[in-house]
Amino acid sequence: MTREAPRPDTPRAEAPVPRGPSEAFAYAPAPESRAVVDIAPSYGLFVDGEFREAADGKVFKTVSPATEEVLSEVAQAGPEDVDAAVRAARAAFARWSALPGAERAKYLFRIARILQERARELAVLETLDNGKPIRETRDADLPLVAAHFFYYAGWADKLPHAGFGPAPRPLGVAAQVIPWNFPLLMLAWKVAPALATGNTVVLKPAETTPLSALFFADVCRQAGLPPGVVNIVTGDGPVGAALVAHPDVDKVAFTGSTAVGKEIARTVAGTRKRLTLELGGKGANIVFDDAPVDQAVEGIVDGIFFNGGQVCCAGSRLLVQESVRDEVLDALKRRLTTLRVGDPLDKNTDVGAINSAEQLARITELARAGEEEGAERWSPACELPTTGYWFAPTVFTGVTQAHRIAREEIFGPVLSVLTFRTPDEAVAKANNTPYGLSAGVWTEKGSRMLRMARELRAGVIWSNTFNKFDPTSPFGGYQESGFGREGGRHGLEAYLDV
Ligand code: NAD
Ligand code: MG
Repeated sequence: MTREAPRPDTPRAEAPVPRGPSEAFAYAPAPESRAVVDIAPSYGLFVDGEFREAADGKVFKTVSPATEEVLSEVAQAGPEDVDAAVRAARAAFARWSALPGAERAKYLFRIARILQERARELAVLETLDNGKPIRETRDADLPLVAAHFFYYAGWADKLPHAGFGPAPRPLGVAAQVIPWNFPLLMLAWKVAPALATGNTVVLKPAETTPLSALFFADVCRQAGLPPGVVNIVTGDGPVGAALVAHPDVDKVAFTGSTAVGKEIARTVAGTRKRLTLELGGKGANIVFDDAPVDQAVEGIVDGIFFNGGQVCCAGSRLLVQESVRDEVLDALKRRLTTLRVGDPLDKNTDVGAINSAEQLARITELARAGEEEGAERWSPACELPTTGYWFAPTVFTGVTQAHRIAREEIFGPVLSVLTFRTPDEAVAKANNTPYGLSAGVWTEKGSRMLRMARELRAGVIWSNTFNKFDPTSPFGGYQESGFGREGGRHGLEAYLDV
């Protein structure tokens, strides 16, 4: 088709002005099918290769945060069940740890392949139980989950060459407690290295997102994993507390809030148990005046709106050089008007639901504090669904370092914008936090990138990108973001007696 050039003598028709994001970016609904996943009305605990009810028969419900629909009823473990799971893991340890590494690898490779084969089912399940967009579970969570199992399967027969001595030994029974923001991915980060090194595990998923871990139990059965090597106990905080306090546990691995991490550190102190903690963060995304603005804007969006900002390494503080502040903020706001917030199962959705009513209340409270303390609040026009837990993408400008929204982890789609003039000021502001998990640096100057990488106190520093993950790369924090590394060769160390 050719377009006719307007003739100079005819008045030009006014181009229609898009009135809002919904009109300019009206996409037809593209829902992923729910039918690919079969959710049972109830699930038991996975202990010694079998699903069983809790000893006292207690259950709790898990809902879809996007609709508040009850998805299933799940067993609430008690101390007796935790004990049974630890016993099963202990009983399985002798044979599992004695297997040649190449034999353990076969199981892990098999699990990895089954996870790939069932990726669509698991992605839909995760989106339903967690509320995050299918675009993320399909394109980020599930591929990374499989990659993690493949990666650690590859290490299982090479441990004598991993740099931890000629015959590194497993620790024993690993108690693993994980959060709700990346339910299956955090499971993979914990279970894959533990099994590769010859440990057995008892894992407690978060109470709002237990389903993908229970489906993983089924994957273990499908892979023929010996009973007791992986056990899953579902329930709330006290179940996690009972698990980490169990006397027959050798290793504790926790990801979650700093408050609970500190409590666990107190429980474990003075015992023989080994501990790794992956806690909160208040990541700085630092944009220098020579950064490519459009690329930086994509990185800022990825940094704080990926998984609705419910990410421990989120770039929740934007530090932008004063001379480009207005240009970056204008471009950012323009970009945010194109974000599609809504049904997580729709393949066009960028930002899904907040995981729980409690989390929504925490975000709402902190955002209110931001306004009360004098920062300026802005959100793009967007219609939020009327049921479920939702929070509009939000940007606070005029934020100072004293504001709560600059210091506390919000764990939601809320960006706090601060400015700086010199690289020294950027480093000082970025490091002015009790955390130290992640940072991003946007500049075209290689020497500046390297200098920032040296001076920023963060476990992960991304340069001209953000929120990139790879199983070969170690991840972990400084200070109150925790200690120990997950991923890469370093991740083996947490599960070996070195
Ligand atoms: P949380 O730390 O309470 O929960 C994480 C996991 O720990 C869950 O499985 C929970 O059941 C378990 N747990 C709770 N209390 C426990 C205890 N005393 N002993 C052992 N296990 C226990 O996190 P939350 O309440 O869901 O979220 C609160 C805040 O934590 C969020 O607002 C966010 O700031 C932060 N958070 C961080 C991460 C992260 O990846 N670092 C993940 C989730 C939440
Ligand atoms: Mg749920």
